Amino acid sequence: MTRFLTILGATGSIGRSTADVVLAHRDELRVEAVVGGRDALALADVARRLGAKFAALADERGGEALRQALSGTGIESGAGQTAVLEAAEREADIVLAAISGTAGLAPTHAALKAGRRIALANKESLVCAGDAFMADARRVGAEIMPVDSEHNALDQALAAGLNRDVEKAIITATGGPFRNAPREQIARADAKEASAHPVWSMGSKINIDSATLMNKGLELIEAHHLFGLEPERLDVLVHPEAIVHGLVQWSDGAITAGLALPDMKVPIANALRENRRLRMELPRLDLAAIGRLSFERPDEGRFPCLSLAKAALRAGGAMPTILNAANEIAVEAYLAGAIGFYDISEIVEKVCSTLSGRQILMPSTVAEALAIDQEARATARRLIPAPVEASKLR
Ligand code: NAD
Ligand code: MG
Repeated sequence: MTRFLTILGATGSIGRSTADVVLAHRDELRVEAVVGGRDALALADVARRLGAKFAALADERGGEALRQALSGTGIESGAGQTAVLEAAEREADIVLAAISGTAGLAPTHAALKAGRRIALANKESLVCAGDAFMADARRVGAEIMPVDSEHNALDQALAAGLNRDVEKAIITATGGPFRNAPREQIARADAKEASAHPVWSMGSKINIDSATLMNKGLELIEAHHLFGLEPERLDVLVHPEAIVHGLVQWSDGAITAGLALPDMKVPIANALRENRRLRMELPRLDLAAIGRLSFERPDEGRFPCLSLAKAALRAGGAMPTILNAANEIAVEAYLAGAIGFYDISEIVEKVCSTLSGRQILMPSTVAEALAIDQEARATARRLIPAPVEASKLR
């Protein structure tokens, strides 16, 4: 049966892998709409290749370029946030949410409220507004399929038992580019070094989150919301080979784990399945060729972002929203060369402690979460040194 898919973040790393999965299953998967951020030509290209009906660019300034690039194709287009929301809400069977950062929350939430089944890559949606997002999903009966490789593995492993029999759900981390680096070296690392991920090729924001291990912290919060597991039942294990992605330890001592070669097309295909799995012509995991798998505990001393995220998860309320917003601003500043590596965790810590003193209530709607997000961003921005103007450099 043909199913229609909308891809939010179609020009990004997850978006491109999704396009590969769709093109391998043209008989089964059709594309309704594609959404991109700023690159009109890249969006026009993916819209054409996938035969989408509608393409929406977030940046209004690229609207005319998009329209021209699609002229004669019969593909409709629009630009600006209204067009993005229109794309998200169009009739479709599945909406794959792969916009990076909290910018993905509003369109993903719009698709969810329209009752669409969500294949979720955009973890920031759940970190920023997890309780409200999941409550809305339950209310409209929208299903959420995790695309994040660890959560997709956990989702498959959890199918082996009942949630109440889960002792621990463990997600793995490769450890990022600085797994074995001494603290002094990490402190000096620039964005280029921090972006050199040993296993995955990803977008710029998640690359830095992987280097700081904030990504794993965000993923613990994501797992908490997706699976309704309390913080004490969630754990992280460093596993540099990135073969085992998630493990569920049961009350009888047995463990069910999800394994796959590190290729996002595997969890994407899994999240797009309906009744039966999609067949993927990808290399198969050859454990004998790999020979050994290794595991170690994460070092929260060199990677303080992980303990900050764990603390935010335990604290609950607005803390994950605040942590996520501060992290996004700090990562932006680090990517721009305005701050150093450990300034990221320092800014996140300061924003969390500054705002924890205030009585900010638990966000019960997505709109409330976004208001707290804005306040935390403003607080974080005040901690970033102003760029030195070129004219003052003498
Ligand atoms: P990316 O930077 O490569 O792509 C982001 C996409 O979002 C692009 O298409 C971009 O144009 C679009 N975009 C950016 N801002 C937008 C806005 N304001 N409105 C509309 N579109 C906008 O990022 P990515 O690596 O593909 O990651 C996407 C999401 O998936 C993130 O939340 C990330 O944490 C998650 N994720 C990624 C991976 C991976 O392997 N890349 C794995 C697991 C989870
Ligand atoms: Mg992941």
